[in-house]
Amino acid sequence: SFADSAAGAAVKADDRAHVFHSWSAQGLIDPLAVAGAEGAYFWDYDGNRYLDFSSQLVNTNIGHQHPKVVAAIQEQAGKLCTLAPGFAVDVRSEAARLVAERTPGDLDKIFFTNGGAEAVENAVRMARLHTGRPKVLSAYRSYHGATAAAINLTGDPRRWPSDTASAGVVHFWGPFRYRSAFHAENEAQECERALAHLEQTIAFEGPQSIAAIILESVPGTAGIMVPPPGYLAGVREICDRYGIVYILDEVMAGFGRTGRWFAADHFDVTPDLLTFAKGVNSGYVPLGGVAISAGIAATFETRPFPGGLTYSGHPLACASAVATINTMAEERIVENAAEIGEKVIGPALREIAGCHPSVGEVRGMGVFWALDLVKNKETREPLVPYNASGAANAPMAEFAAACKRGGLWPFVNMNRTHVVPPCTITEAEAKEGLAALDEALTVADGHTD
Ligand code: PLP
Repeated sequence: SFADSAAGAAVKADDRAHVFHSWSAQGLIDPLAVAGAEGAYFWDYDGNRYLDFSSQLVNTNIGHQHPKVVAAIQEQAGKLCTLAPGFAVDVRSEAARLVAERTPGDLDKIFFTNGGAEAVENAVRMARLHTGRPKVLSAYRSYHGATAAAINLTGDPRRWPSDTASAGVVHFWGPFRYRSAFHAENEAQECERALAHLEQTIAFEGPQSIAAIILESVPGTAGIMVPPPGYLAGVREICDRYGIVYILDEVMAGFGRTGRWFAADHFDVTPDLLTFAKGVNSGYVPLGGVAISAGIAATFETRPFPGGLTYSGHPLACASAVATINTMAEERIVENAAEIGEKVIGPALREIAGCHPSVGEVRGMGVFWALDLVKNKETREPLVPYNASGAANAPMAEFAAACKRGGLWPFVNMNRTHVVPPCTITEAEAKEGLAALDEALTVADGHTD
């Protein structure tokens, strides 16, 4: 047994006394003390093990403690822990090449950051300098990070307290057929109307003032809305017509999550800038970056790029990225994500939806799925109101607690639960988690009409 409750209590006591947590009212949280993790599982100090259907924050694409990645970090630590970004260093060069070989089209130069938000900040900076224009368009129902520009671009309520600084950001509606902003009756109509709405937003904002449009290729935290065929290509065409920089944010969707290296690969589009983080090295060491097209790289060929970070291309982070990408290729981990999604998770979730009055829609691809939970399948009224907290959010809190009792760690956001396990998940593990999910959904069913 791995139970050591006294050690867990000590970890928790120091946490409660000194750790200030993200997005939280500090006095109202009760963080689980975690003793260890391996593959798709982690466990606490009391002998409880959880199958991680959240991949932490949708970042452990290769699972926990992959031995090849751990060994690469250990080896790099023994060789060279850190080096300023101005030098050329073997693992940084190799990580940049491995990323550039996989990003679409001419996205061949890599600016490394410490995570996703910094990638978005720097992509926006590049777009503004490249075009000389101030505004950036982003979608409602998006998440782009928690730093100054990234939180303003974000299209969920976490933006509201920081909205005062949102100079130059304009939000628009992306396609989302289940909760269509356009009253569309089919995918083709949703696509056409979403593109017309974007075009009209551009016309009314003034095309000459717009530096960039930023979109998650497949919006993640906001609900995993796979765009209809033609939408991302349609945005490419609009950007070309108005000289607007096209930024695809692949921080969550990239590196295998959708069953391809990048979600953009499913739609045959090449943006001008692509942001990544999370799955690039499964977060073993903080890393993110911007992949830059030839055209934008040319802007900074003789003119300095006015941005930088002490840890840009950190050797430990880059060594872990090299090992992660090579291991994902050798062990066919991206292919596994595609196969498990198509053969196991997708079919099982559709069956689950048929048996539960609380499951309004199932959508996704690869190991990137959402269940839209509703009070009523006909009206599609969400199981909890938008941005609900406290008593109003009780149905979702009770559902999450039921998952945990069943040994499943869920990803929950508003009225949705996401099925986002590591890309390495086996068929047996997926089935174990899906059975626990099926069971926990009876709790959500109890809150339907
Ligand atoms: N962009 C997207 C699409 C994300 O999902 C996230 C994080 O969830 C971010 C950006 C921000 O990344 P980070 O938390 O590493 O700053």
